[in-house]
Amino acid sequence: MNDPNDTVGLARRDWLKTACLGGAAGFLASYPAVAETTAVPAKKVRGVVFMVSDGMSPGVLTLAEAYSKLTRKRGTCWWQLINERSSSRGLMDTASANSMVTDSAAAASAWGGGQRIHNGAINTDPTGKAITPIAALLKQSGSARIGLVTTATVTHATPAGFAASVPSRGSEDAIATQYLNRVDVILGGGSAFFDPKIRSDHKDLSGDFEKAGYQILRQRDELTASASEKLLGTFTRGHLPFSIDRDRNPKLAARVPTLTEMAQAALSRFLTGDQPFLLQVEGARIDHAAHLNDIGGLLGEQLAFDDALAAVLEIAAGRDDILVIATSDHGNANPGLNGMGAGYSESTQHFERIARFNASHERIFAEWNKLKKRDTEELSALITNHLQLSLKPREIEALYEILNERKVVEWNHQLVKPEGLLGQFIGNHTGIGWTGTTHTTDPTLITATGPQSARFAGMVKNSDVFGHLMEMLG
Ligand SMILES: [Zn+2]
Repeated sequence: MNDPNDTVGLARRDWLKTACLGGAAGFLASYPAVAETTAVPAKKVRGVVFMVSDGMSPGVLTLAEAYSKLTRKRGTCWWQLINERSSSRGLMDTASANSMVTDSAAAASAWGGGQRIHNGAINTDPTGKAITPIAALLKQSGSARIGLVTTATVTHATPAGFAASVPSRGSEDAIATQYLNRVDVILGGGSAFFDPKIRSDHKDLSGDFEKAGYQILRQRDELTASASEKLLGTFTRGHLPFSIDRDRNPKLAARVPTLTEMAQAALSRFLTGDQPFLLQVEGARIDHAAHLNDIGGLLGEQLAFDDALAAVLEIAAGRDDILVIATSDHGNANPGLNGMGAGYSESTQHFERIARFNASHERIFAEWNKLKKRDTEELSALITNHLQLSLKPREIEALYEILNERKVVEWNHQLVKPEGLLGQFIGNHTGIGWTGTTHTTDPTLITATGPQSARFAGMVKNSDVFGHLMEMLG
C-alpha cells in the first residue's frame, strides 16, 4: 500500500532528533545519531512497538501536556507526535463483545486475537473456545521475537492479550505458564506468578524459564548489567509502584526500573538481525490512578509513559523499519479541568496545585490503614501532608465516615466510595472532575509513526489491529 510517510521520512527523523528527549536523554546516549542521508524509509515493517497508555481518556493528553509544561518546562512527546505531519492520527473504537464499555482483557484480546470477546476473558470466545494469540502465531510462522513490558504484573490483562488464552483474566498463574518460550523479553511486576511458594500449583516456573535460557532479573541494576537476549524481569511481587511514589523513595527507585528503562532494554534486544518483532509497552497504572480518581498519580504515570514513548521514538528515528504506535485500550473516569472562578479565571491556579502532590492515593489510603489512631484530625493531617490541601471540615467528616463504611448521602452511585469522594473533594481545589470510577466508552487516541503508519489513521476498530499486525509481521 502507498505510505504517505515515505515522502516525509526525513522530516520525521529531524523532529525526533530535537523533540521529546528531556526524559529519555540519559538512556539514549548509546544509540547512534540519526544519519543525514537522502534515503527514504523502506516500506517493509520489521518490528512494531505497540505502546499502550492503559485507561487513558482522551482528555488526559491535554492535562499531561499542561502538567509537563508546569513541572518540566517542556511539553509531551505524544502531543508533538500528533502535530507532526508524517504521523497518522486516529481514534480507536474500543467496545467489547458484550458491552459498549470494554475492560482491558477484552480490549487487549481484540488487538492480540482479532475478535471482540466478553469482558473478563483473555483470547477466549463467548463459547469458551480458545483463540490463538498473536505472539503464538508469530512464533509458529517463523523466528519472530516477542516482548512484553508493563508497569503492572507481567501477567495482567493487557500484556496477556498478546500472548495468552484463558477464560478468566484472573488466572495469572496460567498466563505466566503460557509465556514460556512464547515471549522472549518479559519485564514488569508480578514475581508471585512465577514463584513456587505462591503459585497454586507450586510449580517452579521461574526455574523453568531459567532452564529455557531466560535470565531471571529481580533488581534494576541486574537489568542495566544484563546482556542476555531472553529476559524474565519481575521487579515486584505485584504491580510496580506509582511513579509519584517511586520517584520519592530512594530504595524503590534503586530497585525498580522505570518504564523507559524497561522499554529501551527490551527494544535494544530486537534491533540486531532481521527477525520480525512485536513489542508491547504498557503504562498500566494510568488506569489504576483513574479508578482511584487520583490526578497526581495519573499525571505522574502519563509522563513516565511519555518518557518511554520518547525513548522508543528516538531509537526508531535512526531506522526505517520500525513502526511505533501509541494508543489506549479504553477511557477511564474521563478526568478534565473544569472552569473555576469568575470567568474561569482561576482554572489555571487550581490546576497548578497538583504539582505540589507528593503521594498517590494508593499510598495515602495505605498509610491511613496503618495508622494506630484514626480520627478526623489524623485524616486531615494525612491529606495536608501529601496533597498540601486543607479540605473543609465537612469534607473530612464525610471522607472519615465513608472510610469507616458508614452510609453517606448517595449523590452519585459511582462515587460513593473513599476514592470517589476524595477525588471530588480534591476537585474543589484543583478543578479536576471525574465522571465516575470505572472505564468509559469514549474512543481513544491512536497515533502512529514509521512505515505503514497510514494503516492506523481515521477510525480504527480495536479488533482490526490484529489483522494489520499480522499482515506486517506474519
Ligand atoms: Zn481498569
